[in-house]
Amino acid sequence: MAANATRDSAHDDLAPIRESVRALCADFPGEYWRRLDRERAYPEEFVAALTKAGFLAALIPEEYGGSGLTMTAAAAIMEEIQASGCNGAACHAQMYTMGTLLRHGSAEQKKRYLPAIARGELRLQAFGVTEPTSGTDTLNLRTTAVRDGDHYVVNGQKIWTSRAEHSDLMLLLARTTPREQTASRTAGLTVFLVDMRVARGHGLTIRPIRTMMNHATTEVFFENLDVPAEAVIGREGEGFRYILSGMNAERILIAAECIGDAKWFIEKATAYAGERVVFGRPIGQNQGVQFPIARAYIGMRAAELMVREAAALYEAGRDCGAEANMAKHLAAEASWAAADMCVQTHGGFGFAEEFDIERKFRETRLYTVAPISTNLVLSYIAEHVLGLPRSY
Ligand SMILES: Cc1cc2nc3c(=O)[nH]c(=O)nc-3n(C[C@H](O)[C@H](O)[C@H](O)COP(=O)(O)OP(=O)(O)OC[C@H]3O[C@@H](n4cnc5c(N)ncnc54)[C@H](O)[C@@H]3O)c2cc1C
Repeated sequence: MAANATRDSAHDDLAPIRESVRALCADFPGEYWRRLDRERAYPEEFVAALTKAGFLAALIPEEYGGSGLTMTAAAAIMEEIQASGCNGAACHAQMYTMGTLLRHGSAEQKKRYLPAIARGELRLQAFGVTEPTSGTDTLNLRTTAVRDGDHYVVNGQKIWTSRAEHSDLMLLLARTTPREQTASRTAGLTVFLVDMRVARGHGLTIRPIRTMMNHATTEVFFENLDVPAEAVIGREGEGFRYILSGMNAERILIAAECIGDAKWFIEKATAYAGERVVFGRPIGQNQGVQFPIARAYIGMRAAELMVREAAALYEAGRDCGAEANMAKHLAAEASWAAADMCVQTHGGFGFAEEFDIERKFRETRLYTVAPISTNLVLSYIAEHVLGLPRSY
């Protein structure tokens, strides 16, 4: 099987976009990522190149200066980044976090922010939802924003706020009405577009968290942070709904990244299995080595179909909650299975830094946990698709 057969399995008509992403990524080889990984440093040059090429503005409509591409095209961009051995997690949120602003922001907010985000002059890639105590149980988050005249005073803490140090703006979810005073369990949370350039050092503190991969994630503390009332997106108290509406795009794009990762692992393993000679023949001649690669390929292709289905429903404006969740689940499982297979195929060399496999293995491990963990996807399907009783 030719390595290209893995890479080109999408059979879509996005070849020019795919080609140009690949060409850009070729300037950022394994050595670049290895150095950053060792130093836990941010890939400034890579992000600047993607921004300059307009790829991160793929989903911003042309009227706001973006590329106005479809979700399928945006997914192809993220997939190609990963399939090239690069890491889109450094900036993927710049592509989709603005969706909440685009769908629920006022005309004035959109005019003010979206063109600058499209040009890359403003980075909106920090998303403050998860908190240390409530975790997945978002409705129990404790960060509060209390109205005081023409501003709100924010107190609390977020965790795993990725890229906060490399973002100008943060989409923040905070409680504006105490839970016991709300009419429904999902009411009382509000979305704010926080200008971190103003807030840092004036009630907002960012502390990096070192993780097993180079992810620029942080914890963020709010201590009497003043946020102007015009930073509210949409209506006060309806933020949970707005955040949920952005999650399908996030899940589809991250699923596409997982497909890219799986393709990278499968290509690496296929090439190595054909080259590496042990016992006088290529290891890939043994079915014990072939079959795990074939299995990983089948898993990737099946997941890829679901990603495409979810993207097509999304761009048709149809409900795609189930498909986006299933796509993310299948793709995260497929990339992790391919990563494990790739290490096994390489034997000892799978652990050597210079092969990049151990780095990509650590990086792709994230996606069965974030942005939503496997159990929560299963619970969504069980309850919302199959009609089983609520478990929480
Ligand atoms: C590197 C990284 C980057 C991240 N970036 C961001 C970000 O930018 N912004 C942001 O807001 N968040 C971010 N997150 C947070 C991420 O979305 C959460 O870690 C993830 O959703 C899981 O939540 P938790 O860690 O609080 O786990 P918990 O909610 O504490 O759950 C722990 C485990 O228990 C399981 N579990 C919990 N409740 C149930 C249940 N009822 N039934 C079955 N199983 C259950 C979960 O599936 C999970 O496996 C990031 C996380 C990481 C690690």
